[in-house]
Amino acid sequence: MDKKTYYQTRNKIFNVIWISIIPPRGYNRRKKIVILPSELHKFVFCPKQFLFDKKLKRKPPLKRRILILIGKIKHYLYIKRGYKKEHLLEAEIPWLNAVLIGKPDAFKVKDNVIILEELKNRNGPLNGAWDSDVIQALAYAYLLKENYGKNVKITIIYKNRKVEVPYNEALLKLCLADYVAVAIGASVPIAKKSGKCRWCQYQAECK
Ligand code: SF4
Repeated sequence: MDKKTYYQTRNKIFNVIWISIIPPRGYNRRKKIVILPSELHKFVFCPKQFLFDKKLKRKPPLKRRILILIGKIKHYLYIKRGYKKEHLLEAEIPWLNAVLIGKPDAFKVKDNVIILEELKNRNGPLNGAWDSDVIQALAYAYLLKENYGKNVKITIIYKNRKVEVPYNEALLKLCLADYVAVAIGASVPIAKKSGKCRWCQYQAECK
């Protein structure tokens, strides 16, 4: 593990402990936080953009909106025998007093396993899958696991290839705690500029 990953992991573990044991001011334990896998995806893609979206609610550039629309149409047209599509699921996240709600793209129950397919309207990276896609798929897998009580086999389907992702609840927990810490204002992310900023609608405000 390199130094950067070590510090990132350490901060995430700190967030889990902090929120679970000593909730920060303004965090109402009686009011459950609703988390959507699509928001988690946005958060992992860029936590700063996720925050800007909450405050400024600015639409993405037209090109990006067109791609989102094409993605939605592709999802709609994706039909596979035996698979359930866009089935609304809900599961508690007790250690964070939160509830996860979402609709996996497509899944089927086969014997003791659930096969989950997550569709993406873009190419995958050279190796593995994009972090934001992995976390979103893990969130859907968590929903399925909690609702059906079975193991989940995850496949992310990119335009150029398919990637199998192992179920990793520990990683999802770290990310959920990080997400909640930012969502309730207990932690403020710093901007990490990269190629992803090219299509960002908050470039002027992002420092
Ligand atoms: S400019 Fe880049 S770092 Fe800043 S919010 Fe947009 S994507 Fe994130």
